[in-house]
Amino acid sequence: MTSADLPDRFTRPESDARFWNEGAQTTETAELVRRAAAGIGEEWKRIWEQPVAFYRRRFEAAGLSAGEIPPLDDIPRTTKNDLRADEVAHPPFGSYRTVGIRDAVRIGGSTGTSGTPVIMMFGPRDLQAAIEFQCRVLWRYGVRPGDSFTHSWPQGFYISSTSTALWFVRTGILEIPVGPPLTPDVALDHIRLWAQLRPDGFQMTSSQLATYDEVARENGMDIRSFLDGKAIGLLDAIFQFDGPRARIERAYGFSMRNMGGVGDIPGYGLTDCEHHTGLHTPGDYSVIQVVDPVTGRSVPEGERGHLVITTFGLDNVFMRYDIEDICTMTTAPCPCGETGPRYTLLGRATDAVDINGRMVLPIDVQLALDDHGAPEFQFAPSAEQDGTALRLRVETEGRGAEYQTVLTEALEVPVDVAEIGIGTLPRASFKPRRVAT
Ligand SMILES: [Zn+2]
Repeated sequence: MTSADLPDRFTRPESDARFWNEGAQTTETAELVRRAAAGIGEEWKRIWEQPVAFYRRRFEAAGLSAGEIPPLDDIPRTTKNDLRADEVAHPPFGSYRTVGIRDAVRIGGSTGTSGTPVIMMFGPRDLQAAIEFQCRVLWRYGVRPGDSFTHSWPQGFYISSTSTALWFVRTGILEIPVGPPLTPDVALDHIRLWAQLRPDGFQMTSSQLATYDEVARENGMDIRSFLDGKAIGLLDAIFQFDGPRARIERAYGFSMRNMGGVGDIPGYGLTDCEHHTGLHTPGDYSVIQVVDPVTGRSVPEGERGHLVITTFGLDNVFMRYDIEDICTMTTAPCPCGETGPRYTLLGRATDAVDINGRMVLPIDVQLALDDHGAPEFQFAPSAEQDGTALRLRVETEGRGAEYQTVLTEALEVPVDVAEIGIGTLPRASFKPRRVAT
């Protein structure tokens, strides 16, 4: 079948087009702001009139009313835990949902890396938006119709696995889903498959990449043989920084994109572009804020805070949804020409350790140790953190004192390094955990 035989709904931009959807992705900032205000207005109305009981109760309790849309900063935030508590109070699905199991067109769950897995139900508009966001993402990798793209994302009930086929078919890019490398044997199967199929694009977490590398070496193979010159999306905040990214691109010969996003919001998996100026967000469906964790008010651009997302034009409602990720954001123009705000992901708020009033994240340690062999490490469990010194376990033979000095200087807080044997820390099959539990 040639592209000429495809039905209208599969029309695509020309392969040399810069953007999947140029009109939407290069909309003037002022116009995006205007549309966001109108879109949020519609969501506000829906919450009160439909009503969406969970939000309405919270907003009433905060003294807000239907007739007056307050500035975003004045709207209470909602966290994942609030939604889980609502599900317990209003079983089985809570009172916050606007898409029920009877009107859902897609269903799936989160991986539960940060707690109980969450069930997500997408309505038609959610699915349409998810496909649109992910087509933009695939296009941003530089892969085009006729190319193939493989990924090691969880399969089964995991939310993206119930939908990925839709955007691959839509873009005309051949999907090669393999699932996570759960054991060395499975990893070796993936490596052999890729050596045979030679995909043009890859998507995995950095711990998965490390697993593949290790398994390939043990079997006398080199993953660089099929990664060299290809595009890859990696999930690991560290590669948003030039030094670590240049190092890994040199090591494997690929050209990488950083990935991030929010699993609970339909299709909200994001990437940066080749300029690596932060993760591009769809400004035509969402407003992002970075806020003070305590007051909930926006902090100046470039400062750290919690990522808070408000969506509009979807079937699901996310009004001031606090992702509890620590981020910085920017609205400065990106050289690629895509408009809408971008953010840099720095870590999970729950992983942050407060040392004498200074917030330290695993990424701060990763960056500081990057020029010193980038050893594997974990923060000691929170029960062992007493707030006077950052307590860490680092995989090393005899360099603990050196790391302690490097970190104390870089982080400007006392650091206590406990040496542990190389290879002791568990390697994740999906997302790495930098904090011991
Ligand atoms: Zn860009």
